[in-house]
Amino acid sequence: MPKLRNRSHHPVLVIGTGIAGLTSAWVLAQAGVKVLLVTKTSDPADCNTFWAQGGIIYKGTNDSAAKLIEDIIHAGAELSNEEAVRALAIDGPKVVRKLLINEMKVPFDKTDEGELDLTQEGAHSVSRIIHAGDATGRAIEISLLNKVKKEPNIRLLTDMTAIDLLTTHHHPRDIQVRYGLANECVGAYLLDNRTREVYTVFADYTVLATGGAGQIFLHTTNTKAAIGDGVVMAHRAGARIMNAEYVQFHPTALYDKKANHFLISEALRGEGARLRNQKGEYFMEKYSPSLRDLAPRDVVARAIVEEMTVSKDDFVYLDLASSYNGDEPIPERFPNIAKACAEIGVDIESEPIPVVPAAHYFCGGVLCNTSGETTLPRLYAIGETSCSGVHGANRLASTSLLEGLTWGYHAALSIRGKLHRAGPEAGSAGRRSASVRRSPMPGMGVLGSSAIQSIPDWKQPGSLNLEDPALILQDWTTIQHTMWNYVGIVRTYERLKRAFADMRELGNRLTKFYHESPVSKDIIELFHGQNMAAIIAQAALKNPESRGAHFRKE
Ligand SMILES: Cc1cc2nc3c(=O)[nH]c(=O)nc-3n(C[C@H](O)[C@H](O)[C@H](O)COP(=O)(O)OP(=O)(O)OC[C@H]3O[C@@H](n4cnc5c(N)ncnc54)[C@H](O)[C@@H]3O)c2cc1C
Repeated sequence: MPKLRNRSHHPVLVIGTGIAGLTSAWVLAQAGVKVLLVTKTSDPADCNTFWAQGGIIYKGTNDSAAKLIEDIIHAGAELSNEEAVRALAIDGPKVVRKLLINEMKVPFDKTDEGELDLTQEGAHSVSRIIHAGDATGRAIEISLLNKVKKEPNIRLLTDMTAIDLLTTHHHPRDIQVRYGLANECVGAYLLDNRTREVYTVFADYTVLATGGAGQIFLHTTNTKAAIGDGVVMAHRAGARIMNAEYVQFHPTALYDKKANHFLISEALRGEGARLRNQKGEYFMEKYSPSLRDLAPRDVVARAIVEEMTVSKDDFVYLDLASSYNGDEPIPERFPNIAKACAEIGVDIESEPIPVVPAAHYFCGGVLCNTSGETTLPRLYAIGETSCSGVHGANRLASTSLLEGLTWGYHAALSIRGKLHRAGPEAGSAGRRSASVRRSPMPGMGVLGSSAIQSIPDWKQPGSLNLEDPALILQDWTTIQHTMWNYVGIVRTYERLKRAFADMRELGNRLTKFYHESPVSKDIIELFHGQNMAAIIAQAALKNPESRGAHFRKE
């Protein structure tokens, strides 16, 4: 693979290789548009999409868009954007059929009659979710990646961390350009993690598909990459961020750092498993006398936190072995969970599973419309990093894969339309990515090429290498504990005030560090993690109303 050229120009830069990024890149490429697709991980499949277990919404037998809309708005505590929910409910199943079933041929489970197997999850009024065993995300990610890797219009680069978005307000040296009222996103600085070179990459359109932010909490089901880079970069560039206080916690993740908090699905409680504390007491009846262990996610998560706080224990147990009421043998019913538990020495047929609640899904993000456009022209945001308003204050199970897919599709169509209107040359597969100095960007409108040319390359701040793994580790520990204890499942004014102040103070220190030490992936991630923590803490502090995933005790 030839090296990426510095100051190269691309019709579209897509950042992130989960379901959202892969879908947008694929659809654009099918329309003949050249795409530069990057991920900061070495393996492009290393993302939250890969770990999605339950499934993706399609449509049930007696289902309708109206029913799905009602379920989503109800789960979102009536805070959803109705236009976005409608777009998801009406277009989503069509995109699943077109892309995942027909084009990608994702191996979804079928019934004996050859129909797609539909399951139901909590808060859905009908069975409408399709799945590939209990590893649906893996099947989707691999199917998409296999196609994308063979697609000549897509250049996929791994180990490339986006560190900052290029904008016409912040970056140009040309003072006249800076006087312009319009701020536009014209690409990004990308760090090659291996060589530490930073590339200035220009794009007519930049698509943020950088996923969630679970890693800023002590316990999370998310992959290491999920620290909110996209939200932080968009925030810095001037795009509007919304609903950042709504972080969904899953009540039961495996209590084991090595197992990366593997998700223990609600299906276990659906089939008899019960929660008990380390003294052996079953406790859910105390918190939800009628629903007990089948209470909604947020009620169960708060009950577990309360038990852990009172007992000062680090986890509780989920006991499937004593009360399983399913028909199939446990290892056949839950093969992946049985395997993950066995890897840490727990036999779920005979022993209780140590579990802890964990940050699971970021409902807020970069505000976008139904096409994925943000408030910053030429910047799109799709998937978990965005806030389309679908999820409102809480997410209905299995809507997120569908949202990533649908918004990936819509964003691609929107960009394709704009490139098309900009002229026959723009974005076409026939045009090679060109050096900006030789070729002004087609479709750059009022910006022309002088704005672009005056954007400087990344300046390494001296050679003083202050990077110390011990400092980085300690700062991450501070972020994750602060967010878990003060901005976690149960929030109070005092806790949030303290968290925001602490994160701001850490931010001051890190900004200095960031400006003095040559950039690396670790430094960028720490800086972005702290920024993301401050954004969430501030949003939670400002909002006194308990709603959906945001619970304010005081
Ligand atoms: C354990 C688990 C189970 C789940 N189960 C379900 C389920 O059953 N159904 C459902 O609908 N949803 C489920 N979800 C949620 C769903 O998986 C995610 O919301 C969805 O996959 C997010 O897709 P995405 O494309 O937005 O982001 P991701 O799939 O997380 O991809 C983000 C990409 O961005 C890249 N990236 C991030 N920052 C940078 C940067 N600075 N530079 C370059 N690249 C960057 C990452 O490397 C990655 O490639 C689950 C989530 C988890 C963690």
